[in-house]
Amino acid sequence: MIHYRIEVADAAAHQFKVTLTIADPAPEVRLSLPAWIPGSYMIREFARHLSLLQARQGTQARPLVQLAKDRWRVATSGRAALVVTYFAYAFDPSVRTAWLSDDRGFFNPTSLCLAVEGRTSEPHRLELYRLPAGWDVATGMTRVDAGADPAKAAKGAKAAPARTQAFESADYDELADHPFELGAFWRGSFTSGGVVHEFVVSGAWPQFDGARLLADTKRICDEEIRFWHGNDKPPFARYVFMLYATEDGYGGLEHRASTALIAARKDLPRLGVPGTSDGYVTLLGLISHEYFHTWNVKRLKPAEFLPYDLTRENYTELLWFFEGFTSYYDDLFLLRCGLIDAARYVKLVGRAMTGVQQAPGQRVQSVAEASFDAWVKYYRTDENTPNSTISYYTKGSLVALRLDLALRAGGKATLDDVMRALWRDAPGGAVTEDLILKTVARLGGKAVAAELREWVHQRDELDVLQPLARVGVEPEPETLTLAFELGIRVAEGPVTGIQVKHVLTGGAGAAAGLSAGDEILAVDGWRVRRLDDALAWIRTGAAFELLVVRQQRVRTLRVAERDTGHRDEAASRSLKLAANPTAATLARRTAWLGR
Ligand SMILES: [Zn+2]
Repeated sequence: MIHYRIEVADAAAHQFKVTLTIADPAPEVRLSLPAWIPGSYMIREFARHLSLLQARQGTQARPLVQLAKDRWRVATSGRAALVVTYFAYAFDPSVRTAWLSDDRGFFNPTSLCLAVEGRTSEPHRLELYRLPAGWDVATGMTRVDAGADPAKAAKGAKAAPARTQAFESADYDELADHPFELGAFWRGSFTSGGVVHEFVVSGAWPQFDGARLLADTKRICDEEIRFWHGNDKPPFARYVFMLYATEDGYGGLEHRASTALIAARKDLPRLGVPGTSDGYVTLLGLISHEYFHTWNVKRLKPAEFLPYDLTRENYTELLWFFEGFTSYYDDLFLLRCGLIDAARYVKLVGRAMTGVQQAPGQRVQSVAEASFDAWVKYYRTDENTPNSTISYYTKGSLVALRLDLALRAGGKATLDDVMRALWRDAPGGAVTEDLILKTVARLGGKAVAAELREWVHQRDELDVLQPLARVGVEPEPETLTLAFELGIRVAEGPVTGIQVKHVLTGGAGAAAGLSAGDEILAVDGWRVRRLDDALAWIRTGAAFELLVVRQQRVRTLRVAERDTGHRDEAASRSLKLAANPTAATLARRTAWLGR
């Protein structure tokens, strides 16, 4: 048994203290901390936040020899338990690492728990020791101390939470997959598919409508469990949503029996406020997305992830499937369970389509290449990102849409059938591109499988307009902004002026010589602090001059006369349904979305 005791050492200094006890140690013990956390494909070097590592057996100190940035060796003597203590700095509000302040704690064991090499397949016990008074605990890990009583917890017993609680996992891999939320948070629960789902929210406003969040989340869970299992139970005994509401955050990380989420406080539903804001739809989409991952990436996995190697990059070309297809289904489930209507759903598809169309990187990278390169590109964006990369999330969701339309047009199967066939057939959950293609070929025909292979590997635009037109969904041109017409992205405001953030390959701004980092001062001799103000005096498509500051020097750039017509045709289109469609039309237009 490997045992971790975790305590709040200094909340103001954001320091957890960890005491790792290794019974019956080998003559030489090697310890290491993961370099990344599954679901977020980037080397994050969590070990940089550890300090003051010490080891002892009984009262005898044992020297720790550091072997690498995240790896240590201890020589032991005799069979007495080896005790290693250290501190972990926790001040990252994201879902990926750890946080500690006087009112909240959060951690992934990947940030706090050193793995004992050679013993990662043993049971691991994690003890939260003397938590601050009034702090509650939420986690998907199984509680094992005397106070553990799942039945009471499910009924929301009001007794003060125990200040010391213990949890156990079958091995290190499971330990690493259970984040912990600590503090005086809001708590609710519901049952879906015969399984208790807990929902905790930290940082919500007092007017937060928890009952509505629970009811809406339950609809999503019911729909997704039905999708995978019909009336059978899902493959987990309990599930926990941990949501941290912040001023302006967004993000989530999936786990086998829980998810950690971040959302903007203003996007939570509020008591007495009817209607569904766009922000709340975004939050519901995030909930739907992470919950779908419970099957698609936590149980069905890229074959390369079996098992995870947490010490280095785990390359896979399949994130277009695990993230892209999950992104296709997240909003689709909101539609299927009635949380959004068809018009709103099509708008969301249009947003994804517009985002992909505006990225020159789609002609530089395929979604398979983008998946492989996630480690150095997706999570490390810079000014050149739109030109050099394509999102395997958004373009992957369009590949799923195109595939679903092609399958449905063939009349033999839908993407739902493909997903469920993979669930049945993937050996040990291991998914390969070959298995996906064979499954598509078997259910929908070889021609569709060949097309899918092409969409996944081509460095080119993916046409979704034509197949959408065939099911009655038409794009409508949107009003152009000047930044859009120039093919640039800017940050602007009355105080900062206009800062150029991205210059897209092939655009009029690139042709004029604009560069990321430029500040635009004036258009045709007029001072501007918002680019679109210039629309009042320049004609669409006509030439004009930009006064620009670059590295302290002022220069004039000339934007040539340009053909804006083709942008209206292609890049700026977003999907909308025609105004005031009758119910019958709507039903026909969205027939392709049905179960
Ligand atoms: Zn995801």
